[in-house]
Amino acid sequence: MAQGIPEKIMMNTALVEELADVAKDAALLQGVLMRIQETPNSSELVTYAPFTLFPTPVPKAVFLQALAVQTHYNTLVDKISQDPDFLQESLASTISVDDFTARLFKIHQQILKEGRSQSIVLGLNRSDYMLDQGEDGSSSLKQIEINTFAASFGGLSSRTPDIHRHVLKVAGQLEDSQRILDNNPAVGLARAIAKAWELYGSERAIVMFLVEDSQRNIFDQRYIENELWKRNIPTTRKRFDDVYKTGSLDQDKKLFVDGNEVAVVYFRCGYMPQNYTSEQTWDARLLMERSQAVKCPDISTHLAGTKKVQQVLARPGVLEKFFPDQPQVVEQIRATFAGLYTLDMGPEGDKTVAMALAAPDRFVLKPQREGGGNNIYGSEICQVLEGVKESTERMAYILMDKVHPTPIHNYLLRRDAPLKITNCLSELGAFGTYVRQGEDMVLNECVGHLLRTKSSQHSDGGVAAGVAVLDNPLLV
Ligand code: ADP
Ligand code: MG
Repeated sequence: MAQGIPEKIMMNTALVEELADVAKDAALLQGVLMRIQETPNSSELVTYAPFTLFPTPVPKAVFLQALAVQTHYNTLVDKISQDPDFLQESLASTISVDDFTARLFKIHQQILKEGRSQSIVLGLNRSDYMLDQGEDGSSSLKQIEINTFAASFGGLSSRTPDIHRHVLKVAGQLEDSQRILDNNPAVGLARAIAKAWELYGSERAIVMFLVEDSQRNIFDQRYIENELWKRNIPTTRKRFDDVYKTGSLDQDKKLFVDGNEVAVVYFRCGYMPQNYTSEQTWDARLLMERSQAVKCPDISTHLAGTKKVQQVLARPGVLEKFFPDQPQVVEQIRATFAGLYTLDMGPEGDKTVAMALAAPDRFVLKPQREGGGNNIYGSEICQVLEGVKESTERMAYILMDKVHPTPIHNYLLRRDAPLKITNCLSELGAFGTYVRQGEDMVLNECVGHLLRTKSSQHSDGGVAAGVAVLDNPLLV
């Protein structure tokens, strides 16, 4: 492997076993933790969050490219969220067949009708990429998706660099160990939340993390909570149910939950249909959206992060509409797009169907879902498309070119999993934050990165889905 971890280390079983033990202890010492599946709501017994034994080589140029384009992606997401006509046109076909997106869109429309009660906007995004391997051995950065809702692992990834540094030292790779980059998204994410809280302007008001019923990944969030507490900003963790039972708006639409005024709602739950277990859950979402609290994300920013919007953005002329006088920004963003194709009814969608059926291995079929494990690959694309190709049901999906990163050997460390050398593919994320007040962009930053790695045997799935693990780039 070029400029990565030497094969003589990779293949030395005794050394690898020793390093794996060292690595797991380092993870525990660093606080790279997850609760265990058996007791997701207790911290009595916890384990290390899954991670790779070694860092993964990433070409420096593409790494820097991902960081450099992030503030433009922030601006783009924000502009989309303020363009109701664009959202309406982009999502019209999707919402006619996808109930979940339709329900979100209904909330969006109600908010537009009532008028937004808060002019402060807080965005915490993560744009994810894979490196497409060219025939000449080059690699180009291709966006997989942008997460505008509950983008995770900014906390834990702030602590993973020290694990790999330590492992490499023990492996005798001191030089490589010094090349592991610092990373601290937790601080940057907290800085943006703190800014929004400050602008909201009430010292008593709290930051509410809206969390899932099952909280295995709590430590990732605790890092951000702790950063806020360090700034004397009070935070609390509540579920949809708590908001439904104890939430209310006063005459100024200030949000109160459990007796506390809420300055910021940071959603870490609410992006999957399964999160909405009852009508009350939907009522709670609407209550928060209507309120004066700063929502991260607000409903229109949530919609801006859909895969359908991603596909529409790749159409000729669309980026130009959002950046009319900035051809360089357009070019910088567009350079990261993989091929994206509509499945709307009509000749263009028909062409997409024919193309996918002819060469399914070249594509990924994506419904409007988040959280891993929802996309469709290979022969299953044909099965699904054969079933829906004549009906409007096909409009619930988009088609995307499959990105082909170079597989790299590594060991995936996960509780109770056997230690074995694995062919791996990685996905690089860049964290972006912004705060806008009315017309004023008061903060727009790239605050760090995330590398996740999975076995090449799995086509899909993130860390929370139990497929990918945390990693660090080793710039080459
Ligand atoms: P989700 O919202 O579920 O995270 P993604 O679009 O990020 O949806 O896809 C989930 C996973 O599927 C990604 O992490 C990646 O491993 C894989 N994947 C998605 N799109 C592509 C693609 N175009 N090429 C290769 N792999 C992809
Ligand atoms: Mg993803």
